Amino acid sequence: MRIILIGPPGAGKGTQCQRLVELLKVPHLSTGEMLRAAVRAGTPEGLQAARSMEQGQLVPDPLIVGMVTRRLEAGDCRNGCLLDGFPRTLHQAEILDDLLERRAMSVDGVIELAVPRDELVRRMLARKRADDDPAIFSRRITSFEEQTAPLLEYYGRQEKLACIDGLGTADEIFGRVKAAVKRFERSRSVR
Ligand code: ADP
Repeated sequence: MRIILIGPPGAGKGTQCQRLVELLKVPHLSTGEMLRAAVRAGTPEGLQAARSMEQGQLVPDPLIVGMVTRRLEAGDCRNGCLLDGFPRTLHQAEILDDLLERRAMSVDGVIELAVPRDELVRRMLARKRADDDPAIFSRRITSFEEQTAPLLEYYGRQEKLACIDGLGTADEIFGRVKAAVKRFERSRSVR
């Protein structure tokens, strides 16, 4: 299975990703983690990415696409993967479809973890990390919404989108994630 998990900052995506990779037995491709590793290692890509990341901006498409392509071509991704953080924009989704198609692969399903903004803010305030400034957090949610709305529409048109309620316990939410995966399996077998 090749699945994409999309959710705003603070939605609990990390927890669900962890459980989902265990269930599917596929590698977890988190672009945020890949980029942070490149920054730590001081690679040319890391140095280039660091500038955008520090300013809270997306890194240039050629950089992120290059990284993801190399990762998707690795042997452990042959039978699938869980994409987390990519694609983030409509343009990235189109590039991904194109590069998968050329390798006779495709996206099986997209899970949107939906959490209302006031709940995200409430969670952030409860967590209160030093880098959690409410105004900055609010801006991150807004840019997430602006970037991902066209992306969600795109996968909706392809009938690959499952929007799931991100409110409840981690177990309850994972139950909904598993149900979405079952639906993807069924539609894959008729596609
Ligand atoms: P966040 O939820 O804080 O955005 P991530 O760990 O997903 O966290 O990403 C951290 C940073 O890495 C982003 O702010 C962005 O600069 C960069 N990044 C991650 N994924 C992408 C992507 N698909 N396209 C461009 N930049 C990305």
